[in-house]
Amino acid sequence: MKLEKYSFGIGDRFSQQGEAQLSAIMEAAEKGLEIVPVWNKSNREHQNIHSSPSDTRREADDAVKKLQWKHPYYVDADHINLDTVDAFLPYSDFFTLDVAGYLGREIPGDDLENFLDIADRYTGKLVIPGISEPFHVNRDALHAMAGKFLGAIREASSIYGHIATRKGAGQFVAEISMDEVEHPQTPVELFFILMMIRQFDIPVQTIAPKFTGRFNKGVDYAGDVVQFRKEFEQDLLVIDHAVRTFGLPENLKLSVHSGSDKFTIYPVMGELIRKHDKGIHVKTAGTTWLEEVIGLALSGGEALQMAKTIYARAFDHREALCAPYATVIDIDPDTLPLPDAVETWSGEKFANTLRHVPGHPDYHPGFRQLIHVGYKVAADMGEEFLSMVRTHREVTGEQVKTNLYERHIRRLFGI
Ligand SMILES: [Zn+2]
Repeated sequence: MKLEKYSFGIGDRFSQQGEAQLSAIMEAAEKGLEIVPVWNKSNREHQNIHSSPSDTRREADDAVKKLQWKHPYYVDADHINLDTVDAFLPYSDFFTLDVAGYLGREIPGDDLENFLDIADRYTGKLVIPGISEPFHVNRDALHAMAGKFLGAIREASSIYGHIATRKGAGQFVAEISMDEVEHPQTPVELFFILMMIRQFDIPVQTIAPKFTGRFNKGVDYAGDVVQFRKEFEQDLLVIDHAVRTFGLPENLKLSVHSGSDKFTIYPVMGELIRKHDKGIHVKTAGTTWLEEVIGLALSGGEALQMAKTIYARAFDHREALCAPYATVIDIDPDTLPLPDAVETWSGEKFANTLRHVPGHPDYHPGFRQLIHVGYKVAADMGEEFLSMVRTHREVTGEQVKTNLYERHIRRLFGI
């Protein structure tokens, strides 16, 4: 199973928008841009929503059948490890092996020796074709990188082996992620991480490092765009070189997590992947759920009321809701509108406050991020919420499609 050049991870918290999401991908196909959809959902999301991996599979299959999508599509067991992977095995054909929690883990001496044996020849000047300045690597740096990453890649190899034994090698796409950590990985670290992946023989097709800057959930990139551009381009060249040097899968590409809504860097990423003729995988998640809330607000009446209730409850429980996401959100609580004020808003005003249109006078990133992490409120409403979304499926679906196609795909791929 070989993942195509361009793929889009369309997370969907409540599994209601498969058709709307796929229709955005199809719109791109009509314009000549081939992207394959990957429905991704993590164990954490399933737990918060009380859904199961079979729901994601059903959503994907149903959408594909209904819209007669003739091209490949995938269902991604997102951020799994050995403790959580089993429930996904029958339903997924894409597995994101999350090893962020294993960085810095101890390793057997043999593994370290094997790594140093190969890595040693890259000490001194490390020249990567296309990167003008060589990197300088010494033995201490190799030891430091082994200490940080080797145990994690060893763990990835165990997870990969576990899946391959059950599904058969070649029957699924494997991604390795280490994005949910505090410090970004540099391009030179990426080179040696890829060497470790080769050492453990993991046929990885996508890799999700942590990039420089903040990838907050549901809002734009915050960071040094010049630095991001430099490192992103170096990452592309490092992967290219590693693929040729180590014999990794030739379609190996970068995966950008929390990749929705990063409008500032979309033109940068788009320009660089086109310049170097590289593929990309972008994962979105909460952005679709936010469009559902926008759709409810625009639908007026009891649907608008429900959107306001979701905000009010999220506001009341903001500390608990934000805590698990502390490293990936930036909300100034003092600027959040009070629920009593929101109660008086029109559907338009609510939608404009929530919708990610950076220049709009009503747009409020804090309001947006709070609702982003507030999906548990809707999950607790259960059927009441789901049936409201279904009743207003035309409006919500239109928001989802427009958001994905107009604000994401077009910006990223420059169409
Ligand atoms: Zn991630």
